[in-house]
Amino acid sequence: MMGDHGNSEDEDEFQAVDVSIVTGPSSKVITKESLLAAQREDLVRIMDLLSIKEHHARALLIHYGWDVEKVLAVLVEHGNDELFAAAGVKVVEHDDGPSSLQFSSTVSCNICYDDVSATEVTTMDCSHCFCNDCWTNHFIVKINEGQSRSITCMEHKCGAICDEVKIRCLVGARDSDLAEKFDRFLLESYIEDNKRVKWCPSVPHCGNAIRIEVDELCEVECACGLQFCFGCSSEAHSPCSCLMWKLWSKKCQDESMTANWITVHTKPCPSCHKPVEKNGGCNLVRCICKRTFCWHCGGQTHDFYGCGRYKDKDVEMDTQSAKRDLERYMHYYNRYKAHTDSFKLERKMKKTMHNKINKLYESDTSSKDFSWITNGLNRLFRSRRILSTIKQDLFEDQQQQFEANVEKLSMYLEEKFESYSEDKFKDWKMRTIALSVTTDNLGRNLYEFIETDLLGCFKDADHKIAPYKSKGVEKASEHHSSLSI
Ligand SMILES: [Zn+2]
Ligand SMILES: [Zn+2]
Ligand SMILES: [Zn+2]
Ligand SMILES: [Zn+2]
Ligand SMILES: [Zn+2]
Ligand SMILES: [Zn+2]
Ligand SMILES: [Zn+2]
Repeated sequence: MMGDHGNSEDEDEFQAVDVSIVTGPSSKVITKESLLAAQREDLVRIMDLLSIKEHHARALLIHYGWDVEKVLAVLVEHGNDELFAAAGVKVVEHDDGPSSLQFSSTVSCNICYDDVSATEVTTMDCSHCFCNDCWTNHFIVKINEGQSRSITCMEHKCGAICDEVKIRCLVGARDSDLAEKFDRFLLESYIEDNKRVKWCPSVPHCGNAIRIEVDELCEVECACGLQFCFGCSSEAHSPCSCLMWKLWSKKCQDESMTANWITVHTKPCPSCHKPVEKNGGCNLVRCICKRTFCWHCGGQTHDFYGCGRYKDKDVEMDTQSAKRDLERYMHYYNRYKAHTDSFKLERKMKKTMHNKINKLYESDTSSKDFSWITNGLNRLFRSRRILSTIKQDLFEDQQQQFEANVEKLSMYLEEKFESYSEDKFKDWKMRTIALSVTTDNLGRNLYEFIETDLLGCFKDADHKIAPYKSKGVEKASEHHSSLSI
């Protein structure tokens, strides 16, 4: 593959390859501080478009999963009334209470049947009116049940969402901590009910969430440095599909295959319960407690043909598949471990490279642009990650070629280029750029191959893979609000 490119590839060409795939930032970091602003942006859009109040806009957006486009689509297709009704929003113009109540000094609450002063009752948008005590009790129960985002009216079969301002006011008068909690739940709805926003899965948690601007499955990098799959919130795992990754990491974590191996190969003795291993072909086994029992049914004895409840052939199959599972498990475990170890090495190598580049800056070289070195390094890391993720035996050829290039690139980047003569440096630069481009192309081909040839037959969304990114997983940019609050 190297021969195709040789040493003639120029830096310009190298950069041209990069420019062709550059797109705008597809993800944004939402910090604790910018969460409020990010949410307000969507609220204001809906409030402006529909000329409604904030609490109605929030109820709508919570119901439609913070999908502004979806709200507009429903509006266009079904009209205002249906849009609001589905979300339990009642938009009515009225004062604090029905006017008839203003004149009577007491009102009877239909929940507690107490006669209370007209100033001690609250009327919601749906025009249902109850005493403040009853409302407050209702709200506190709902907030504690985790239903802050959809507290509905107490009236039987009403279903209207209660005004958050009134909830906050009534609950705050009795329990200010709970009122604060209520506000936080409403705020976090922007993350938890929104399919474009996800908490960063870092442990301990960095406090950030990531919002993606694209609809397709992708991998993102949080400001804290964690790269994760937006589909399943695991560490970045392409070109492995979410489902494959889930199955594989499960094997690494709970050692279920080892457990399976033990259950297939040993049986608890019916009298002392110690696991007894079967050796030899006879199904009658003897425990060290001297108890003899049938391997299959646990009976004390069996006839000449075996117990008949379990065919020997099935046992053979079980044993073989358990053995295979164990081997596979060990394979993944070793890979998984090599993978985590390489992260530590990467960090070290990045630092060394940084120092080397600084030395180059200080020396008298004609060019001061060394971005191609960092690009090469990022590609190396990216490629290593790909290699550690994929299942080797599925595509030997592509992978071996890729692996060989990655190893070579790693060697080039570890050369002592910072002390090379000008000619030698130029040669090294050309070699490195060419190899970096080749590795990039091989990586992209591998993704394409996996996507079309291997996963193409699965129509399941769980078998989608995140697209190949030449420079590795994209770092999410800071969220800057277009509004001032
Ligand atoms: Zn009452
Ligand atoms: Zn009501
Ligand atoms: Zn994070
Ligand atoms: Zn995933
Ligand atoms: Zn025993
Ligand atoms: Zn026997
Ligand atoms: Zn038996």
